[in-house]
Amino acid sequence: MADKKVPFTRDEILKIKETYPTPFHIYDEQGIIENIRRLKAAFSWADFTEYFAVKACPNPFIMKLLKAEGIGADCSSIAELTLAEELGITGDQIMFTSNDTPDYEYQKAQELGAIINFDDVSHLKYYEENVGALPELVCFRYNPGSAKEGNLIIGHPEEAKYGFTQEQLIEGYRYCKERGVKRFGLHTMVASNELDYTYFIETAEILFTEVLSISKKIGVEFEFVNLGGGIGIPYHPEQEAVNLEKVGSGIKEKYEQIILKNGLNPLQIKMECGRMVTGPYGWLITEVLHIKKTYKHYVGVDATMANLMRPAMYGAYHHITVLGKENEPAVDTVDVAGSLCENNDKFAIDRLLPETVPGDIIAIHDAGAHGHSMGFNYNGKTRSAELLKRTDGSVVMIRRAETLKDIFATLDFDALKEFE
Ligand SMILES: *Cc1c(COP(=O)(O)O)cnc(C)c1O
Repeated sequence: MADKKVPFTRDEILKIKETYPTPFHIYDEQGIIENIRRLKAAFSWADFTEYFAVKACPNPFIMKLLKAEGIGADCSSIAELTLAEELGITGDQIMFTSNDTPDYEYQKAQELGAIINFDDVSHLKYYEENVGALPELVCFRYNPGSAKEGNLIIGHPEEAKYGFTQEQLIEGYRYCKERGVKRFGLHTMVASNELDYTYFIETAEILFTEVLSISKKIGVEFEFVNLGGGIGIPYHPEQEAVNLEKVGSGIKEKYEQIILKNGLNPLQIKMECGRMVTGPYGWLITEVLHIKKTYKHYVGVDATMANLMRPAMYGAYHHITVLGKENEPAVDTVDVAGSLCENNDKFAIDRLLPETVPGDIIAIHDAGAHGHSMGFNYNGKTRSAELLKRTDGSVVMIRRAETLKDIFATLDFDALKEFE
């Protein structure tokens, strides 16, 4: 059972609300830091680096806290690379894992000295033609397709647009070797939000086995494997968080069996988790505006799916707490809805909640990853502020809320006056 506590009381939120109106996202520094230290500890046996998948929570204040813990940045776009650059995260502290990549994004990654993780064998020539000589360290993203190992757990990688086939890996490493590249990495990432810890051990086994086979076949020496991200979080209270210690020790066993036994050490282990780093440590805080009873019972809040679209987009469960009513019985079956002109603008459907009235404050859990970052402006809704609860209990704003001015910033109202 996952603990669905909120580290704020209703009174604390009401006080914060005097300065920062709802809706807002609020993150818990202590939770984030303790969790990232757990991940690192699980791999203390290895030369291990975690690259935070910036897209999960692209806030430079949070990235700065993570940087202080030795965490790098996993970037997929020029905006994410620019955030890393702003923070002084450069060189091999950036993993550039992109796909369908335009030349200017490769150029930016090259300029920052990022580790470039190619998504396709054809990108090698594209890179040479549009960016320059291949980097001295290259990494390829492997798509195991219907490979026997791992298929059961990974699902259907052959449906995924990402990565090289096994034959293309050989072709690509050969091509790079011929061009004098000497340093190599291998990456894979096929699943997302996975709660079964054995999946990650299986992924490591696939990569270790591939490292063994490729280095035997063409004499490439590997510096690292990157297991990707995809560690899930228990959105539902009945789910269980991934046991990181079991992930770490399971991978260690495979490392010993495949890498050590065959003299392929040292081999660094890298990961690029996003969701599990910030997800459980962020809440979307919203106020109840209206209670509406028609064919269903609606709790209308001042946030919309523009602040958190996972429930509407994936039908994802996000736990909801009515602050101050944690111990009251759940007596009403309600839909928790926002104000977009879209009937899927709902945070919960047929959810049992305590009796809820206008003015109540609701916390929507696990909004710390793929929450604010997936925001959008449909109906001209503005993205909310992001706040951070520091370890000393103080609350700071780490991104202001958008205003109408931001929404209209790309329109020229003077040109409109002239326009007939
Ligand atoms: C999204 C993504 C991640 C992070 O995934 P999480 O599920 O947030 O851990 C890592 N690497 C790549 C290439 C991604 O696209």
